[in-house]
Amino acid sequence: MEIFETLAKLGYGELHFGHDAATGLRALVGIHSTRLGPSIGGTRIRFYDSESDAIDDVTRLAQGMAYKAAVAKLPHGGGKAVIMAPADLAKWPAEKRAALFRAFGAFVDNLGGRYITTEDSGTSTSDMDVVRTSTKHVLGTSIDKGGSGDPSPFTALGCRRGIEAIANHVFGKPDLKGLHVAVQGVGHVGAHLARELVQAGAKLTICDVDPARRSAVAAELGAAVVDVDQILEVDCDIVAPCALGGALTEAVLPKLKCKAVAGAANNQLRTPGVGKALHARGIFYAPDYVINGGGLINVAQEYAGYDAAAARAKTIAIYDTIKDIIDRSRREKTQPELIADRIAEETIAAGTHK
Ligand code: NAD
Repeated sequence: MEIFETLAKLGYGELHFGHDAATGLRALVGIHSTRLGPSIGGTRIRFYDSESDAIDDVTRLAQGMAYKAAVAKLPHGGGKAVIMAPADLAKWPAEKRAALFRAFGAFVDNLGGRYITTEDSGTSTSDMDVVRTSTKHVLGTSIDKGGSGDPSPFTALGCRRGIEAIANHVFGKPDLKGLHVAVQGVGHVGAHLARELVQAGAKLTICDVDPARRSAVAAELGAAVVDVDQILEVDCDIVAPCALGGALTEAVLPKLKCKAVAGAANNQLRTPGVGKALHARGIFYAPDYVINGGGLINVAQEYAGYDAAAARAKTIAIYDTIKDIIDRSRREKTQPELIADRIAEETIAAGTHK
């Protein structure tokens, strides 16, 4: 693979390789840009078929974090780390895994704070506690170790605020009373979002592949439940994807009956063509990395000195960003996700927030 070509295509940046012979660590850190401030992004650990796959993943994800931080008006660039896991990682004893994360922490430390790590898929708060023993450039450690804890209530709060902006400025409704939202996946974020919506007077339909989760949320909130393959077809105002990425596909498009899509999942549009088709059908799509920025805002607040009220206030402002995107999308007759990309690119190029 042509590494510099990949970096140039994504507007990069730096790519660092870390290897530790004693633990077998093979890690990559992508730093998109530090123009807005030190880069932040999680560490993903998974098995990769090839080094090219790992490079693709880390560079693409770091760019995503850069855009997310820029639109959230954070003084941070985007970064990401991947650790290429050995095939038998699941069988490793705890001390062997801890040694790997200590070595990873030393690698992050050598970057001198231009990259700040946190947890991501495959890694946990306890892994970050281990990383903390090798570097101070880590966030999302346990609350009893000075960390900011679970980011999902903040992610859910930001989603609710984005949904309010859509209700007000796309549907012309004063509030969420009577608004029907179909939530796909009631895990960490989805369950918090469901609670926020019901408290604001919305009507809910939910689904989850996990029967215990969906029953608990349905019983608590009086939500209607549908099968997982029906949720996107519910006749409702808003579909909120809060499970896995790629929920919106070409195949699902003709079945949608909602007027907007607004949820926490990352990479909701399976292809760029899906966004184009949603726009053509008049279905408003809230760009995922804008509406789900509450978790990153909370972690960035930990870096600045943790203050839950400040993190909440900044998360609440996701309303204004979604409103700006709605206005600009109308003015420029352009898809909301392309407007979000433009805002991020303009901000990163300017090196400052407006
Ligand atoms: P989670 O694993 O706690 O919840 C996901 C839920 O979706 C689970 O209950 C799971 O059973 C369910 N699910 C999986 N496949 C499903 C399917 N096909 N149909 C219906 N339900 C299904 O994860 P989470 O932390 O709540 O994150 C949800 C999404 O939001 C993810 O895409 C994540 O990347 C994204 N996100 C999360 C945060 C955060 O703060 N946790 C921040 C930004 C983005």
